[in-house]
Amino acid sequence: MIKVETAKKWLDLFIEQLLENKVYLSELDTAIGDGDHGNNMARGATALKEKLAEKEYDNLTDLLKDTGMVMVSKVGGASGPLYGSAFIEMAKAAKNDEQVALADLLQAGLDGIQKRGKAAQGEKTMVDEWIPVIEDVQNNQLTTEKVDEYVEKTKPIKATKGRASYLGERSIGHIDPGAASSGLLFKTMLKAGVADE
Ligand code: ADP
Ligand code: MG
Ligand code: MG
Repeated sequence: MIKVETAKKWLDLFIEQLLENKVYLSELDTAIGDGDHGNNMARGATALKEKLAEKEYDNLTDLLKDTGMVMVSKVGGASGPLYGSAFIEMAKAAKNDEQVALADLLQAGLDGIQKRGKAAQGEKTMVDEWIPVIEDVQNNQLTTEKVDEYVEKTKPIKATKGRASYLGERSIGHIDPGAASSGLLFKTMLKAGVADE
């Protein structure tokens, strides 16, 4: 079972990392997109920090739902609705099953991303980070090294979804920014100890 306090710690760390990596994430997006991914995520992170400071959460569903709403309304771009869907679907999964296992929670998030963005594995998007991470969580084998490895693995892929797909072959050789921000999500998840519960 995932405790709400642990999930709150996870989100606090994620917010911190997004703010810390704002320039880096936008640099990644400058290479294959429009250079705003770090700014988009940092704007969401700042708004989320304010939102989460407003009340004490006593259940996972409300925490995840509020996070999703902030992502949708504040992040913008392609990634805002995608992260928003992920958190809103995770909130629903936590509501349906209060004892939800982490892998199932994340799978619901991924389903939300794919339902909205229609990207499959291998199209150079955040989906390429979420899929192997969830598999590792299922097998209790996720490490920060693996999270980073999956981010790196987006480099040789040719983008066929999102803004980077406009570049065609020229998208090859660059890390996908959304996979990198998702990498921060999963590394902070490990750091907060969400996977240990
Ligand atoms: P925008 O491209 O609108 O400027 P961002 O720069 O914030 O939005 O986000 C770009 C990231 O969004 C990409 O790096 C990719 O990971 C993700 N992305 C874009 N389109 C999709 C999609 N259809 N499915 C999944 N992820 C996507
Ligand atoms: Mg962008
Ligand atoms: Mg943009």
